[in-house]
Amino acid sequence: MSEGDGGEPSVAEPPGRADGPAADPGARTGGDGPRMRGPRRAAALAAVLLFAGVAAVLGLTTPWNPLPGHVPGGSVQADPSLDFTPHEIARAKAFDGAINPPAYSGLLVGLAVILVLGFTPLGSRFIGWTTARVRRRPLRVIAAAVALTTLLRVIGLPFDIWSEAVLRHYGLSTQGWSAWAVDQLKSLGVTWVMYTVALLLLYAIVRRFPRYWWTGAAAGGFVLVVAVSFIYPIAVEPVFNKFHSLPAGQLRTDLLAMAKRDGVPVKDVLVADASRRTTSLNAYVSGFGSTRRIVLYDTLLKSPRPQIESIVGHELGHAKRDDVLWGTLVGALGVAGGLCLLYLLTTSPRLLRRAGVDPHVPAARDARSTGPADPRSIALVLALVAAGTQLAAPVQNLVSRRIEARADAHALDLTRDPKTFVAMQHELSVRNIDDPDPNWAEYLLWMTHPSGPDRIAMARTWSKMHHAPIPPPLH
Ligand SMILES: [Zn+2]
Repeated sequence: MSEGDGGEPSVAEPPGRADGPAADPGARTGGDGPRMRGPRRAAALAAVLLFAGVAAVLGLTTPWNPLPGHVPGGSVQADPSLDFTPHEIARAKAFDGAINPPAYSGLLVGLAVILVLGFTPLGSRFIGWTTARVRRRPLRVIAAAVALTTLLRVIGLPFDIWSEAVLRHYGLSTQGWSAWAVDQLKSLGVTWVMYTVALLLLYAIVRRFPRYWWTGAAAGGFVLVVAVSFIYPIAVEPVFNKFHSLPAGQLRTDLLAMAKRDGVPVKDVLVADASRRTTSLNAYVSGFGSTRRIVLYDTLLKSPRPQIESIVGHELGHAKRDDVLWGTLVGALGVAGGLCLLYLLTTSPRLLRRAGVDPHVPAARDARSTGPADPRSIALVLALVAAGTQLAAPVQNLVSRRIEARADAHALDLTRDPKTFVAMQHELSVRNIDDPDPNWAEYLLWMTHPSGPDRIAMARTWSKMHHAPIPPPLH
């Protein structure tokens, strides 16, 4: 996700502030000073409470069993060979073999580079070099954020080009290289805005409240995540796609009638011009409250109407359960907890020294330009964020797969048409060339949805539970 624009926060320095280091001798000795013990203990407690909040919300709201109830004769197990031809399976395996090398090596190289930059003096030297001529502090933060994110994007570029070439070879990408390059530039622009705004706010707070910045950062991070999730559909999605209302006609009438029957207030269904980029099929729900929208890829519109209804039934499941809103809450709590952890780590003199940032805060005035307040610590901050994001991904994916399965169950309950559901899931898998049999690493790192055969098996389980005819094998 990304952030909208924000003004440059003021970092004026009123003299003798109660929160500033002038009145706070403990801050002079850095993170290991006795006066830092209290704030650090409080931050640790806040982190524990916030992550406990994340665990509680996930524990209570995740549908661990998306299809509750007794299944006569037991659940149906996934079996790709029932519905996918040997040719379809071989093609998916070949695609997997072609896309994995750029995907894994791009991930590994990107992580390795940011970790090396953050946990050695290389990152602070790079920032020192790129901001050498920049005087004003907010401008130094901006320059450092832009320089680092651009460096990471440039390093990732060969892997992105490699992936795009594979997508093109398999007919999944419909874009020319120039249109692709424009997309990359737009995406870099969104990244600049997102990191610049977040880091400007963070460094302004760190500078003002050297001992208690975690409180402001956690609160600010929480608000920012909620705000971004809310404005994302209207601020970021239009950067990449054009949207129009599904034109009046039988399909629109039927879909809105289905939403009404489902008790989900949907005023409109939008169509995205995805076909200018891809041949893959997709639909999604984003935003919440007044920005919530159901979006269909235009590639989907050529599918038979019952299959489109099956997809929209799934999206209505997300809307009805407010999955985006709950996901936003979990993300906001997680980011707030993560910022408390960030405080604990970046006030560690040992880690700062390792990152080439002077942890010593010798005098009141300098306290605001050394230690974590020094913009050269941005590489360390980005490395910690990258590590945290990567560690959280397997949990996010696990929870996401359960939520997606519940949305599938919702589509089945609503349409009561498992046969069409099976046909649609098969079509999705074949068109998007999804791996019918992902390994554990793929589940851990990438799989936000159950595999096609998993989803098809669930439709057969649903049929058994509801004493409906079990959809026969497609193959
Ligand atoms: Zn979904």
